[in-house]
Amino acid sequence: MSSQEYDCIVIGAGIQGSCTAYYLAKNNQKTLLLEQFVLPHARGSSHGQTRIIRKAYDEDYYVRMMDESYGLWAELEKEAGVKLHSRTGLLMLGPENGRDYPRYKQTLQRSRVPTVLLRREEFSQHIPNFNLTDGDGALVDTTAGVLYADKALRTIQRLFQLRGGEIKDGQKVSDISPGPVATVTTATGAYRTKSLVITAGPWVNSLLAYTGLGLPLKVEKINVCYWREKVPGSYSIHKRFPCFIQVEPLESKHHIYGLPSNEYPGLMKVCYHVGKDADPDERDRQTDRSDIEILQRYISRCMPGLVPVPAVVESCLYTTTPDTHFVLDRHPTHSNIVIGAGFSGHGFKFGPLVGKILYELSTGQVPSHDLTPFKISRFQGPSKSAL
Ligand SMILES: Cc1cc2nc3c(=O)[nH]c(=O)nc-3n(C[C@H](O)[C@H](O)[C@H](O)COP(=O)(O)OP(=O)(O)OC[C@H]3O[C@@H](n4cnc5c(N)ncnc54)[C@H](O)[C@@H]3O)c2cc1C
Repeated sequence: MSSQEYDCIVIGAGIQGSCTAYYLAKNNQKTLLLEQFVLPHARGSSHGQTRIIRKAYDEDYYVRMMDESYGLWAELEKEAGVKLHSRTGLLMLGPENGRDYPRYKQTLQRSRVPTVLLRREEFSQHIPNFNLTDGDGALVDTTAGVLYADKALRTIQRLFQLRGGEIKDGQKVSDISPGPVATVTTATGAYRTKSLVITAGPWVNSLLAYTGLGLPLKVEKINVCYWREKVPGSYSIHKRFPCFIQVEPLESKHHIYGLPSNEYPGLMKVCYHVGKDADPDERDRQTDRSDIEILQRYISRCMPGLVPVPAVVESCLYTTTPDTHFVLDRHPTHSNIVIGAGFSGHGFKFGPLVGKILYELSTGQVPSHDLTPFKISRFQGPSKSAL
């Protein structure tokens, strides 16, 4: 057993841990990034070719955070000499008089995000092969696009190593001993650190258990569905078909979203924003397909250019908080342990900013954004979930 000492250890090499490790190394912290699986892997939440990047949110603080995150993605692209995203725009659809669509529209307008409102009579001219539901409004967040997720993860891990950071993969953390100098144990080593960051995605609670903490998180398996274009190329990124989010669809309570065909030629990705509860170590036991039936009904009605039977179904995990806002905070009893968790199916686009914030927290700096919405204390209190 070896015992080595670091300024910081980050547990979990998904997008959030990898970005955090990068900012630590960039700021001269001797940093170790530990990952349970051999990299790259597809068992957590950060794998797959694509994610949506957007400013369209219904809360002002996410828009402000995305203002900075876009800049950080651009810096990473420049440093690595790699293009990590393509701008396609994001089509937002939903009932004009509903709960969600007016909130997104108002937030975008209030924050002066470049947005185009589409009138019903001009909709099909701008967005072919899509049926706008009666009563729905439509707008395009023109800042939005597709992030190349796998490529981004690889790039950030490479930049971390180039800045002197160390990655040890295939090393599952099996114990944490908190203290002013914490000890982190894996099957092959014990590592000591002044500061610890836990970004373990769906497994975060099993690690927090070593520190006496539990968060009210739900792990859901998302069926990632790809649908065949009847006419190849009709929903393609190369024709600048946008990403989309349909809020309050007729078919279901929760959002449906899609990304233009890209990674698998001729196949468009369309998914349901909620999945069934799953154990991250036994995800393939979860075989519920009721979300796919919802998607089939939606696609038959709104996207007539797609075959309404999924051609490919992959899987990915969401780790969701009760209010769907992230956890970005210090541990309530061990201030040198920092937690990034509960990204609730919308955290990838924030990766570089989350990394910067967790680096700031772990080095004792005042974080560059107000973290009130992301505090662990919001789960405490008589009517809230127990910690
Ligand atoms: C289908 C799907 C679609 C999505 N779409 C979008 C989108 O369009 N836009 C967007 O912004 N976001 C999106 N997201 C969300 C985004 O991908 C996640 O929020 C983000 O990837 C979470 O990253 P993470 O680093 O927290 O978790 P993970 O990627 O799961 O990383 C955690 C890591 O910790 C490791 N680990 C856990 N336990 C241990 C241990 N004991 N020892 C060592 N290592 C450990 C795991 O193996 C894993 O590699 C989507 C997610 C999914 C599943």
